[in-house]
Amino acid sequence: MFNTDTISRFKQLETPFYYYDLNLLKQTLQACTSAAAQYNFHVHYAMKANFNPKVLEMIQSFGIGADCVSGGEVKAATDHGFAHDKVVFAGVGKSDKEINEALDRDIFCFNVESVQELQIINDLAKAKNRTASVAIRINPNVDAHTHHFITTGLEENKFGVNTWELPAVAEALAKCPNLQFIGIHFHIGSQITDLSVYKNLCIRVNELQQWFEDHNLAVKVLNLGGGLGVDYYHPDEKPVCDFESYFKVFHDFLDIKPGQEVHFELGRALVAQSAALISRVLYVKNGLKKNFLILDAGMTELIRPMLYQAYHQIENLSRPVNGQQPVVSEEKGSLLTTHQSLLHYDVVGPICESTDCFRKDVELPESFRGDLIAVRTAGAYGEVMVSGYNLRDRVQSVYSE
Ligand SMILES: *Cc1c(COP(=O)(O)O)cnc(C)c1O
Repeated sequence: MFNTDTISRFKQLETPFYYYDLNLLKQTLQACTSAAAQYNFHVHYAMKANFNPKVLEMIQSFGIGADCVSGGEVKAATDHGFAHDKVVFAGVGKSDKEINEALDRDIFCFNVESVQELQIINDLAKAKNRTASVAIRINPNVDAHTHHFITTGLEENKFGVNTWELPAVAEALAKCPNLQFIGIHFHIGSQITDLSVYKNLCIRVNELQQWFEDHNLAVKVLNLGGGLGVDYYHPDEKPVCDFESYFKVFHDFLDIKPGQEVHFELGRALVAQSAALISRVLYVKNGLKKNFLILDAGMTELIRPMLYQAYHQIENLSRPVNGQQPVVSEEKGSLLTTHQSLLHYDVVGPICESTDCFRKDVELPESFRGDLIAVRTAGAYGEVMVSGYNLRDRVQSVYSE
């Protein structure tokens, strides 16, 4: 991701900033769209992962649709060139204003998360003399085997309707003439790296679509959501996800009926590896038990470690080890053989919160004020969660081209 020219360029720039490798983004999108095309699968990009305008423009140029979770995202999607008839809108708490905006933009589908919401969308559509296409988001009670903070498909989660509510859904649909039922939707969690989870999902979806067919509700669309994970530990080894294997699971295990459309909503897998947060060391504090590297970026620029206990690889770009970037793995221990002295640092930000720590005990070459530090795999749920807390300057974005 970083060659010597890139690092020389960084030296001239003010930090912190997000660095976007648009070439890697393009490769990722190519891999995803060509793998999906083999099976005629439809892909929507989950915009909440990253709505940087340059990122959005590149993604829509591949003909990918948009998966939105707010009226603002619906607006941004259509404003940035996503086709209105490829926009889907999910969320447990869609406001009337958001529903109206989505109706005005004539989106492909509302992914509806409760029986009450069906009634509300029907009423709002009726007031506009329109028909809204809806898919029912079902909570399939499938364990995503991911961090409990980012699991969404268990009965204890707030998302979707539970299976015992399906008779009430069918009843409501029968009473809502301004709704057009088109299919069923699932999204069971994020950062899923075990593909057998998706096999389990397919088995549940096959059972559930049968329920709808049995109740005379034709399922034209199966939307399987997103959640495909990326390798935060080895960002340079496989920077492009294995989309082939991912889509093949659905091809192999989903009972796809003739004429049925299969849709996906990928967020993280499309954008995560294409960006890094670049910052500088402001201060080095050597304590009795701990050393601290204090960066000019913190939880206001990238909150994932503090919010979800997420791991990000951290590298000192100013002090390459043996001509390479240091490779540090929590799982395997250090892979380095070098005479350069390696120290352990708690890598922290400047924000007045004790949780403002990217990671404890990070093994790095001895580091100094002014060194450039990269926090890798920051393209998903990074820049979108930037906050103004502590009245910080807005982080900048820098692009590879
Ligand atoms: C967040 C979200 C996604 C994307 O999740 P990723 O883990 O980023 O792939 C897809 N669908 C819905 C409904 C979501 O809320």
